[in-house]
Amino acid sequence: MPDVFADLVGQDEAVTELRRAAAAAAAVLRAAASDRTPALVAAGEADPAPDPTGGMTHAWIFTGPPGSGRSVAARAFAAALQCAYGTGCGECPGCHTTMGGTNADVRMVVPEGLSIGVGEMRALVLRAASTPSGGRWQVVVIEDADRLTEAAGNALLKAVEEPPPRTVFLLCAPSTHPDDISVTIRSRCRVVPLRQPPATAVAEVLVRRDGIAPDVAQWAAAAAQGHVGRARRLARDPEARKRREAVLAVPRRLTGVGAAFDAASALIEAAEAEAEASVAEADAAERAALETALGAGGTGRGAAGAIRGAAGQLKELEKRQKSRATRAQRDALDRALVDLAGFYRDALTMALRAPVDPVHTDTAALAGAGAQKWDAEGSLRRLEAVLACRAAIDANVKPRIAVEAMMLALWKG
Ligand SMILES: [Zn+2]
Repeated sequence: MPDVFADLVGQDEAVTELRRAAAAAAAVLRAAASDRTPALVAAGEADPAPDPTGGMTHAWIFTGPPGSGRSVAARAFAAALQCAYGTGCGECPGCHTTMGGTNADVRMVVPEGLSIGVGEMRALVLRAASTPSGGRWQVVVIEDADRLTEAAGNALLKAVEEPPPRTVFLLCAPSTHPDDISVTIRSRCRVVPLRQPPATAVAEVLVRRDGIAPDVAQWAAAAAQGHVGRARRLARDPEARKRREAVLAVPRRLTGVGAAFDAASALIEAAEAEAEASVAEADAAERAALETALGAGGTGRGAAGAIRGAAGQLKELEKRQKSRATRAQRDALDRALVDLAGFYRDALTMALRAPVDPVHTDTAALAGAGAQKWDAEGSLRRLEAVLACRAAIDANVKPRIAVEAMMLALWKG
């Protein structure tokens, strides 16, 4: 197995910084271990920290556009912290268990719904304060930290302000904008900015790690616009390719008002269907598990109370599943909008005769025709309509309304 940072594509600066921090963290542990007298251990425990010159610290934020590898970076760093050699060798049990998701001292928080609630965060903070069972660090990785509710953010802030000596928080967020992460949490964290990796680097990792043919890898990396996971899906999953083709057929279908509304419906329904397929299995399994657990109650005294409790639990589960379905729908729709934005970007760069490669090589001819017809200005207006639609959905405008407005704007120009 290669080094744990190997999958972090095109992020050399970040990797250098994380390697240095992991080495500093290992040095902290060695120093604590060599101080056998209780007084010294206590002193070491109270201030295990952070060599201020760029070594280790208790709280980190990984920022970058979707697909740049925020959670990949956080997991790799977690592995390097648990690594027996402090390097993220990829070979030792600490590296293996962390990368495999089974290390008892590493918790990954992956929100399934639209937000991370305060209850979940409090429980997490409490567990994070315990002594690491592997003798190294308790690591808590919070993916999508921008989805923390305000109350959850406050619970996290308390832990970040007074971190237990062996606890490390790794947060992932699109940016350090106050909309994504509160200013007070931000001020306690070191920021590791990740960039959108270049298509060549993404293609290279698809070939090396996933065994994908070089020409397919190159096409998928360009079409995914630097999003590593998306590139891999496009290269491997025929369904994902079909969905993308349907989205890229939208521009030539927009021949009138009726067609614009039809295209909007098709896009929304495709996102719903994709989302439903992605959560259906988990939903059914969770419901069956809960019903089995509740069914074990039987009848008799206290059964009425048990049934009331059961109804509450089922309702709670349904609420959680609905939130997850909404999130999956939005994610699916957003992927479609990113593909569509890529098409109009291609038209714009062609109209400007900019010397850049098209995002979608397979619809380049169509984008070229659009460039002729719309010119740079018209292409830009259409690109902006797609981006405005994304922003509107992000601001909780009903997806159907936002998409209909976008389709009309794309038709009218
Ligand atoms: Zn290792």
